[in-house]
Amino acid sequence: MSATRSSMLHAAIRSVAEVCPVARQIQHTLGRIKQITKDDFSPVTVADFAVQALIAVRLRDELGALAMIGEESAADLQAHGRGEVRQAVTAAVRTLRPDLTEDDVLAAIDLGNHDGSERAYWTLDPIDGTKGFLRGGQYAVSLAYIEDGEVVIGVLGCPNLGADFARPFAQPDALGTLFFAALGKGAHAVSPAEAYPTAGARLTVARDRRLRDMRVCQSVEAAHSRLDETQRIAAHLKATGRPAQLDSQCKYAVVARAQADAYIRLPTRADYVEKIWDHAAGALIASEAGARVTDIHGLDLDFTQGATLKRNRGVVCAVPEFHGPILTAIADLYA
Ligand code: AMP
Ligand code: MG
Repeated sequence: MSATRSSMLHAAIRSVAEVCPVARQIQHTLGRIKQITKDDFSPVTVADFAVQALIAVRLRDELGALAMIGEESAADLQAHGRGEVRQAVTAAVRTLRPDLTEDDVLAAIDLGNHDGSERAYWTLDPIDGTKGFLRGGQYAVSLAYIEDGEVVIGVLGCPNLGADFARPFAQPDALGTLFFAALGKGAHAVSPAEAYPTAGARLTVARDRRLRDMRVCQSVEAAHSRLDETQRIAAHLKATGRPAQLDSQCKYAVVARAQADAYIRLPTRADYVEKIWDHAAGALIASEAGARVTDIHGLDLDFTQGATLKRNRGVVCAVPEFHGPILTAIADLYA
């Protein structure tokens, strides 16, 4: 790894690790927090804006000029009547960065407005799985670096996903886990509580599994993936277990750490295009752990198309020996 790539990875890990407690704190006080609705009706909370501002500022301070495609935009906070939300976002940012004013925070959020025209850029989903976040369930802070259309760094902060595989996903862990990967250097997991968590346990996907024991995971939200059809695909392969459900790119991490054998995301709508910030970090972490990650037609996820995966449909992330059978089942069932 070049010095530059390595310093970028370390800055990315630190930036995600330090915002995890901020996100956790906001989740715990959600009752009071205002939720506003963006034009596309997805829920946005104070945490989404605060985390985007904090990560953007940290990366800019450590690495200099920043090109970043972030999910959030300050325009959604500048609308008339959103003053209270702006204040709550600024207060959350100031828990780590007391030096920043409200205007600084708005400018920091808009550091994430890059259009993808450069050769390399960061992409950030500050709170991936916002619906899980609002429900008190799983969510992820997702940060990745894309160079010449290839994801080369991926970091996932999963504040509610603990080390204990037996714990139900719906029961938040108190410590959480941070996952990171660099292209060609493997995937790792560490506790986000470590000040500089850069040397974690190396992850490998499950090996020598039998298809009938296949453990699949999928979304909680029926609007994001065809949940009953995942069960049908598993049944077609004579797998008996029920799919586990959890929000966010935690699903990629769960495959990477051998807790599940596959993550299946079947499109619910013909016109939905997946966003790069919903997949870049997780897909690199899973593939560096040995998973095969493609869309439902077997095409590699194509990160050369700016903010969206417009050349892909859905996602299949699985241990290598199950990936082919899952694609075949999808082709058989939906030909
Ligand atoms: P998950 O937590 O896996 O259900 O996925 C959460 C992500 O789904 C959000 O970050 C949204 O960007 C994305 N999303 C929103 N609408 C759709 C849709 N119709 N199909 C697939 N993904 C969606
Ligand atoms: Mg998301």
